[in-house]
Amino acid sequence: MRLFAAVIPPDEALRELGRAVDPLHALPEADGLRWTERPGWHFTLAFMGEVDDALLPDLHERLGRAAHHSEDFRLRLHGGGHFGRRVLWIGAAGGLDAMRMLAERANAAARRAGVPMDEHRAYHPHLTIARAREDTDLRPYVDALHAFEGTPWQAAELALVRSNLPRGGVTGEQPRYETVCAWPLGD
Ligand code: ATP
Ligand code: MG
Repeated sequence: MRLFAAVIPPDEALRELGRAVDPLHALPEADGLRWTERPGWHFTLAFMGEVDDALLPDLHERLGRAAHHSEDFRLRLHGGGHFGRRVLWIGAAGGLDAMRMLAERANAAARRAGVPMDEHRAYHPHLTIARAREDTDLRPYVDALHAFEGTPWQAAELALVRSNLPRGGVTGEQPRYETVCAWPLGD
C-alpha cells in the first residue's frame, strides 16, 4: 500500500485554513488549479510510496518507537509559499526543530524497516493546498496568504497515512487518505 508519515492539524485549525483558502478560489487562473481535498490536509513528514505488506509489522514497531522518543511541540499554520510554478502550500511555524527531528526519525524508521527512501533533501514543512495543471504564476496566491496566521496547537501525534490513488482518474468512494495508525509523541 502507498504510505506516508504525517502530522495532521486538528479540525479547528483546518476550518480556519478553509476560511483563508476560500477567497483564493476567486483569483484569476484559480480554475487552472487542482485544490486538494480538505479532509486530507496534512504535513508530510516522510513519504514512503508503495510499501510491501511484509514490512508493515516492523515499520509500525519502528514508527511507534520514533514517536515515543520524540517530544510533542507547538505548531501553527503560517503564511503560504510555492514550489516552482506548480505547487501552492501553507507553511508552519512554532516548534520546527522538533518537527524536523520527528521527520528525520520517521525517515530513519522507514529506511531501517526496509522501505527504499529517497536521498535526504532539506525538510521543508508544507501543507499542499493546490497543484497547477500548467505552469502558473502562484505569487498572487502567496501574497494573499501572506498575513495568514493560524491558532497554535500542540502537535502530539505521529500518523501513518495510507494514500489511495484514484483509479483510472476517477475518484472512487474510498477516502483519498486514511490514517492507518497514530502514535502519541513522547511518554
Ligand atoms: P497526487 O499524487 O494524486 O497528486 P498526492 O500527491 O496528494 O496526490 P501522494 O502522491 O500519495 O498523493 O502523496 C502523499 C503525500 O506525500 C502528499 O503530501 C505529497 O505531497 C507527498 N509526497 C508525494 N511524493 C513525495 C516525494 N517523492 N517526496 C516527498 N513528499 C512526497
Ligand atoms: Mg503525489
